Amino acid sequence: MRVTLEQCGVERSLEGTHLLVAAGRVPNTKDIGLELTGVELTENGYIKVNERLETTAPGVWAVGEIAGSPQFTHISEDDFRVVRDNILGGNRVTTGRQVPFCLFTDPEFARVGMSEKDAKNKGIAYRLFKVPMGAVLRARSLMETRGFVKCLVERDSDSILGFAALGVGAGEIMACVQIAMLGGIPYTSLREAILAHPTIPEGLISLFSTAAS
Ligand SMILES: Cc1cc2nc3c(=O)[nH]c(=O)nc-3n(C[C@H](O)[C@H](O)[C@H](O)COP(=O)(O)OP(=O)(O)OC[C@H]3O[C@@H](n4cnc5c(N)ncnc54)[C@H](O)[C@@H]3O)c2cc1C
Repeated sequence: MRVTLEQCGVERSLEGTHLLVAAGRVPNTKDIGLELTGVELTENGYIKVNERLETTAPGVWAVGEIAGSPQFTHISEDDFRVVRDNILGGNRVTTGRQVPFCLFTDPEFARVGMSEKDAKNKGIAYRLFKVPMGAVLRARSLMETRGFVKCLVERDSDSILGFAALGVGAGEIMACVQIAMLGGIPYTSLREAILAHPTIPEGLISLFSTAAS
């Protein structure tokens, strides 16, 4: 199959066996009478909310994709927790929370926290640890060594800023790193941890034992 497309004014031709169309998603907020309620929309048609997920109408809250939150099930669920706690008198916000994601491609891709670009933009000095998936012994025993594991660490504090992995069990290994991030555990503690062999998270020891750039 051959597809001809235009990208930035340049015509390109792509050849493949399957055609996947990612058409995007749009909020369904038109013509449902929101203008009668005092609930305002953003320019892109999402419900306008503050970091407590309050809309512009007192006592009306919005959660999930319609509130413009990152488009993941676990984020919509966390939005619920934010609203639940705020209705009960708390002050929980959506800002500053972890937004992990895992793409279930083959192999899968998982990411949480800062990317190198984010750290550069914020002027944060960092070290980058990166190993090929072949350095993860469990991946080798599964004969699934495609991909890599990488982690961004703050240069001065050794705290973990961000993590990405492409490979078998990427989402599972990410969850271990997330827990370290939540607990403020430095990468050195993961490097020195005794993790069962051969498990995917054990790969963190290989990762943090390499020379960082
Ligand atoms: C193909 C696909 C795969 C995905 N895979 C993943 C994944 O692996 N992991 C992940 O984290 N996320 C995944 N997502 C994203 C995830 O499904 C959404 O982010 C999540 O469901 C958003 O939850 P929500 O409650 O905000 O909205 P929804 O789950 O979309 O719920 C909105 C509800 O509102 C109803 N509704 C809409 N308009 C009206 C109306 N006018 N009146 C009354 N009811 C209305 C809808 O019928 C729906 O039931 C995937 C999405 C798609 C489409």
